[in-house]
Amino acid sequence: MVYRSVAALALYCAYCGRIELHGVSRFAVGRNGLNLSCSCGRHVARVCRDARGRYCLEGPCLFCGQKHLVSLPANFFAMSGVVRLDMAPHKTEIGYAGATAAVRVKLAEQQAAMKRFLAVQAKQLAGRKHQKGS
Ligand SMILES: [Zn+2]
Ligand SMILES: [Zn+2]
Repeated sequence: MVYRSVAALALYCAYCGRIELHGVSRFAVGRNGLNLSCSCGRHVARVCRDARGRYCLEGPCLFCGQKHLVSLPANFFAMSGVVRLDMAPHKTEIGYAGATAAVRVKLAEQQAAMKRFLAVQAKQLAGRKHQKGS
């Protein structure tokens, strides 16, 4: 297994809803973990290690406001692909983890999908406004 020193996470922000890419250096995850924040300035999650030394993610929950622990793949710093991360109690997608290049591709796909979704919403909203005005 080839260990890299850097892997990536793409995480949804519980406050602004954006999904952003975070580079994670293996050496930056110290005893107190590594805090990740969104470009909106809010705290997204903390990368930490559990009692068995496995990497995990702790972040505020979009749904219940509590903090949940999500395990990262055991080979987080050695994987070449990307995996989906779920917030276990709610089975909700919170983002992706994996090799930087693979996560970047996934993120671009997500952002394209989000753009399409927003475009549809904007159209619907415009339609509704039009109806109100007439
Ligand atoms: Zn944000
Ligand atoms: Zn929750």
